[in-house]
Amino acid sequence: SWAAALLKRNPQFKSLDWTDVQAFRTILPSPGGVLTSIRDPTNPDATTSSSSSASVSADQLDSQEALQAYNTDWLKLYRGQAPVVLFPETTAHVAAILRYCQEHRLAVVPQGGNTCVTGASVPVFDELILNLAKLNRVRQFDPVGGVLVSDAGCILQNLEAYVEPRGFTMPLDLAAKGSCQIGGNVATNAGGVHFLKYGSLHGSVLGLEVVLPSGEVMDLLSTLRKDSTGYDLKQLFIGAEGTLGVITGVALQTAPFLPVAVLLGLNSYKQALDTYALAQKHIYQNLSAFEFWDRECFNYLLESGANAPSEPFASTYPYYILVESSSSDEDQNQESLSKFLDILLQNKLMGDGTISFDQSQFNRLWAYRESIPSAVLRHPSLAYDLTLDYPHFYQVVEVLRDRLRQMGLYDGYKGRGNVQAIAGLGHFGDGNIHVCVVAKDLNKEVFEAVEPFIYEWAAERGGSISAEHGLGILKAPYLHYTRSEVVIRTMRQIKTVFDPHGIMNPYKVLT
Ligand code: FAD
Repeated sequence: SWAAALLKRNPQFKSLDWTDVQAFRTILPSPGGVLTSIRDPTNPDATTSSSSSASVSADQLDSQEALQAYNTDWLKLYRGQAPVVLFPETTAHVAAILRYCQEHRLAVVPQGGNTCVTGASVPVFDELILNLAKLNRVRQFDPVGGVLVSDAGCILQNLEAYVEPRGFTMPLDLAAKGSCQIGGNVATNAGGVHFLKYGSLHGSVLGLEVVLPSGEVMDLLSTLRKDSTGYDLKQLFIGAEGTLGVITGVALQTAPFLPVAVLLGLNSYKQALDTYALAQKHIYQNLSAFEFWDRECFNYLLESGANAPSEPFASTYPYYILVESSSSDEDQNQESLSKFLDILLQNKLMGDGTISFDQSQFNRLWAYRESIPSAVLRHPSLAYDLTLDYPHFYQVVEVLRDRLRQMGLYDGYKGRGNVQAIAGLGHFGDGNIHVCVVAKDLNKEVFEAVEPFIYEWAAERGGSISAEHGLGILKAPYLHYTRSEVVIRTMRQIKTVFDPHGIMNPYKVLT
């Protein structure tokens, strides 16, 4: 990436060597604990790793290929050169590893499911990767209060599968749920499709267990909803992107959940605005998701291959909306959503619509929305994650299309220009739009046509340059568009308190 190319390796960080590998093997003696390409200098032909991680097949052991998977981000925009990936199984392992790393000035990148789209989860240079996949146990669940305590490496979808039969749902849901981990979700302050109802993780995370770079375990793992005893330090780790410490345990407030969904095809952006206003009026307390995408997204979805859902309506629409309502009374829930559809029909607010009457229909409707990010972003893309107020929410896509058209880079969806699409989708109810710029050749010309223009445009309208994806390396240089000098200086001071040697996820968030 262009941003990473401008950075220089901090010479204060030690390079990993065979002595370090041996030390890590002592901390993690079980098979699969250490994956490395570093060789024993006294016996260079010998096998170099005890790794047999579940996610690394036997024939991949020690190969560069296995390391590459952990060194490369989901968008394939960033590639680090970490020669070591560690897989701790307990909080004590993490503590021992960080203590060693701080003592030897080894830089560390905590890694969850590696699904983030800002380059935050992979090294910039040769930083050690600390992958949390094996720290994956549910610790406890309170069926009365709905409080779940788990290890940070639990995959979000697995936690949903754990609480769902108990009548609860996780307070967040996102299309990467099959891979992302709850620790990664907390570290990025992930939003997702249910933010509208359950709010930010700053509210639903009740407690955290965090290992500091010193190796000390900071036990903030409260399961209490109310606790007004001084500074709420756990909040600092929510959205810190692994720059302050490693999250090893999470206590979360889950919620009862009986949802129904309706998919709408709309003819204008104005219809989306009016539909949202009516949803607020008629299903406000049950409204749990209000998702939006445009035709360019939908085109990619339909083209995305055999597993893509087929067209839900007889014709395509310029805009689509997925509305979800959830309540503890199933019948009342169905009824209120059907009534909502009638109101939309009376007001001529939709081109077409379909409602879910059972779980399989519900899943099918959500499959449209959840398949879109992968369908679009499997093409070379720049992806933006903005919060904007409603007059500007979709305007940003139109403004960008006009700009790139004038520059001769864009000529409509899959037109003659290098830029093949400028697609918009997002969590409409949160004012959060994802803008995807897809190009045949994702070159510097495209990058410079979009950045920093898009951040300036959003900042001038009071928007946020990162609604829910964090900053990582991709957006770190643009932090000043959203945060003042005083705020950034205070962030730096906080970083120094927790991480005086700067070993935690360097080059990210604060440049
Ligand atoms: P990673 O990508 O592995 O890491 C992300 C950051 O967290 C890194 O800085 C890493 O160092 C740090 N980190 C990870 N684990 C820990 C830990 N235990 N302790 C300390 N730091 C840690 N995001 C949304 O908010 N909403 C969406 O709707 C959404 N949809 C997505 C859809 C798709 C298809 C994809 C690919 C991504 C989507 N994302 C979305 C982005 C991404 O899934 C989230 O940012 C997610 O929270 C990252 O979790 P992860 O476990 O993959 O973390």
